Amino acid sequence: MYLILLGAPGAGKGTQAVELSKILKVPHISTGDIFRDNIKAKTELGVIADSYISKGKLVPDDVTTNMVDDRISQEDCKNGFILDGFPRTIAQAEALEKILGKTKSKLLKVLNIVISEDVVLRRLSQRRICPNCKRSYHLEFDPPHGDICYSCGAKVVQRPDDVPDVIKQRLITYNESTKPLIDFYRSKGSLVNVQSENDIDESLQNSLYALGLKGI
Ligand code: ADP
Ligand code: ZN
Repeated sequence: MYLILLGAPGAGKGTQAVELSKILKVPHISTGDIFRDNIKAKTELGVIADSYISKGKLVPDDVTTNMVDDRISQEDCKNGFILDGFPRTIAQAEALEKILGKTKSKLLKVLNIVISEDVVLRRLSQRRICPNCKRSYHLEFDPPHGDICYSCGAKVVQRPDDVPDVIKQRLITYNESTKPLIDFYRSKGSLVNVQSENDIDESLQNSLYALGLKGI
């Protein structure tokens, strides 16, 4: 399955993507994770990405699109993928159609994860992530063990962009640049909406149902 996860920052794209990737047996590709790995490794791409990410802005379309093109051309993506965080602009969506070609573009399904802005704000400020295995935690509802990741034992951290000023800018960026993708994909008939304000398992069940995968 060729799946795109759409939704505001903090909507739960990453959390759902990890589970959906296990169920659908296709790779989970998170542009945010790839950028953060590059920032950590201080690569050329990482230096460029950091200058935008730290301000809550989008990394330029050409940089991001080339990175995704490279990733989805790899062997493990030949039967599908889950894109988490891409496309984030209409230009990226159009570039993706070119990369995939007509036949595969028709197979694209877009899961739009719907959530209110105040839930997003509460989630992001309380979020911690494991830089090693990428699992995310919520200090109140799903806390790590002290500051240690349950899955791999690494020390969890707060993302530098999960602080109030940058969160505010990320939401503005989302509303301006990414929200138009909802209409873009709706008009192509690829969009399904799912609510994600409750617990993780319920949101996942809603997603499976919306994608017609209930019972797998
Ligand atoms: P979230 O969805 O929680 O905001 P992500 O981890 O998906 O976070 O992305 C973090 C940051 O990485 C974004 O705020 C943006 O600066 C950058 N980024 C991720 N994906 C893209 C993309 N497709 N195009 C441009 N920038 C991106
Ligand atoms: Zn971990």
